[in-house]
Amino acid sequence: MKITHTINETRALLDAVRAAGQSVGLVPTMGFLHDGHASLMRQSVADNDLTLVTNFVNPTQFAADEDLSAYPRDLARDTEVCEQAGVDVMLVPSVEEMYPLWPSLTTVTVDQLSLGMEGAERPTHFAGVATVVTKLFNIGGRCRAYFGEKDYQQLALIRRMAVDLSFPVEVIGCPIVREDNGLAMSSRNVYLSAEERDAASVLRGSLLHAAELIEAGEQDPDAVRTAMLNLFDAEPLVERPDYIQIVNADSLEDLDPVRGSVRVILAARCGKPRLLDNIGARSPHG
Ligand code: AMP
Repeated sequence: MKITHTINETRALLDAVRAAGQSVGLVPTMGFLHDGHASLMRQSVADNDLTLVTNFVNPTQFAADEDLSAYPRDLARDTEVCEQAGVDVMLVPSVEEMYPLWPSLTTVTVDQLSLGMEGAERPTHFAGVATVVTKLFNIGGRCRAYFGEKDYQQLALIRRMAVDLSFPVEVIGCPIVREDNGLAMSSRNVYLSAEERDAASVLRGSLLHAAELIEAGEQDPDAVRTAMLNLFDAEPLVERPDYIQIVNADSLEDLDPVRGSVRVILAARCGKPRLLDNIGARSPHG
């Protein structure tokens, strides 16, 4: 695997591959890679001739009081994970390489989809994400780009942005990879104690329960929420969720009554980290 540090050398590699009639897959990450990231890489390697992983902790998606400087990093292990997954190129740019004129005066925002849920909790977060993904799409050029359903709101917003801004990029969503106890894998899980890690399985348990209720025909979002909160209240190591949103799987609009293709999305703090998770469900009510 080749490790690059500059945009120019990375573009040259991708251009050469495309000039030879071959396809490019792009997997944007913030590093500290785990099997969730590796599943995106493996999908890209299966679908494309060359896979580029980007490994960049993007400062503009962290608010001043968030964990930017403490965000976990381990480049040696990241290199191993990428190599194991069959990745061809890993781009590890500096902040100066990505933002040569700091601060950037240009910001990409995606209306509506970035307002609720994580956007309400972290008001500047999605502008940072949309802007850096725009830059990565400009670096990646024509390609398929792989994102996890773990960050479901992010995935919906990037799908929409790719259409709105005519990027020559096919956005592909990949299923959530979990620990044995159902906890969604995340770089931030490293902050959990062993007891917290066990307790955090309540996120998955509550989502499975929600999906069962919805698939059995429950149409009242508050009834679903209450049933989920009862499970959280029985688990003292996990706080009550910051939000539990029951939304249309594509538009992310709140559903009341619950019907059609549904996504239940939540975020809850457990010790230090906030944990995100979600589940899909099909209501019998069209
Ligand atoms: P991050 O490094 O946290 O920015 O994540 C990079 C990409 O990996 C994003 O598209 C995430 O949605 C995806 N990802 C993170 N965790 C998981 C997981 N447990 N399963 C599937 N994809 C994931």
